[in-house]
Amino acid sequence: PAEVRFEDVHFAYNPDRPILRGVSFAVPSGKTVAIVGPSGAGKSTLSRLLFRFYEPQAGRITIDGQDIAAIRQDSLRAAIGMVPQDTVLFNDTIGYNIRYGRWEATEAEVREAARLAQIDRFIESLPEGYDTPVGERGLKLSGGEKQRVAIARTILKGPPILVLDEATSALDSFTESQIQDALDRIARGRTTLVIAHRLSTVVDADQILVLDKGVIVERGTHAALLDQD
Ligand code: ADP
Ligand code: ADP
Repeated sequence: PAEVRFEDVHFAYNPDRPILRGVSFAVPSGKTVAIVGPSGAGKSTLSRLLFRFYEPQAGRITIDGQDIAAIRQDSLRAAIGMVPQDTVLFNDTIGYNIRYGRWEATEAEVREAARLAQIDRFIESLPEGYDTPVGERGLKLSGGEKQRVAIARTILKGPPILVLDEATSALDSFTESQIQDALDRIARGRTTLVIAHRLSTVVDADQILVLDKGVIVERGTHAALLDQD
């Protein structure tokens, strides 16, 4: 895989309101680091910087030692897979929606990705809102099922680095634990940055960083952080 490193990163959307105030951490190759913290702490901003949607005003972000400012955006997109909170499905079958991860994938690879994400029974269906000309209705997928389409896309894409934006809080607890299993499976062996709201969803992370108002206020394993409370 690849090592991801944030070095003293400062960032503000507006100059008068700093969002990240000197954030430093590394995700060692193949390991999982989770960022936990209250809403507004700056967690999603970290992932936007990693994709170069924005540039830090100070500090730098590197992948295997190379400043991402020098990496082309399309190379970054290929190297980093993102499972977002909300997945937008386009007007084609679920199978084609999965293929969005890697268009040149074979039919067998699409099926395998769908199977691992446990969404294979929907592969021929159209999403809700997209009805066929002969009057078949598109299928209404739950939030968890849509998230699984995103997981299948990422499995198919197979990037060395993963960003998991968890907000599974909108899902019921059964769905949440199933999604968690699927996410754990794709994270294995990849360099993974998990963005989470609660400590309870990141028990297995190699390291947890607690972000508050743009500063890392605590770091440790799940067990170590619980011990302090
Ligand atoms: P909360 O912590 O309150 O759940 P988030 O930090 O997850 O909120 O999201 C803050 C806002 O940023 C939301 O409006 C969300 O839709 C948006 N957002 C989340 N992830 C991304 C992303 N990767 N790119 C752009 N916008 C995003
Ligand atoms: P988190 O993911 O921890 O909830 P975010 O990184 O989404 O936090 O947001 C951190 C802060 O940055 C929030 O106060 C949010 O309102 C603000 N913010 C997020 N996106 C923008 C933006 N595009 N422009 C201005 N402020 C933003």
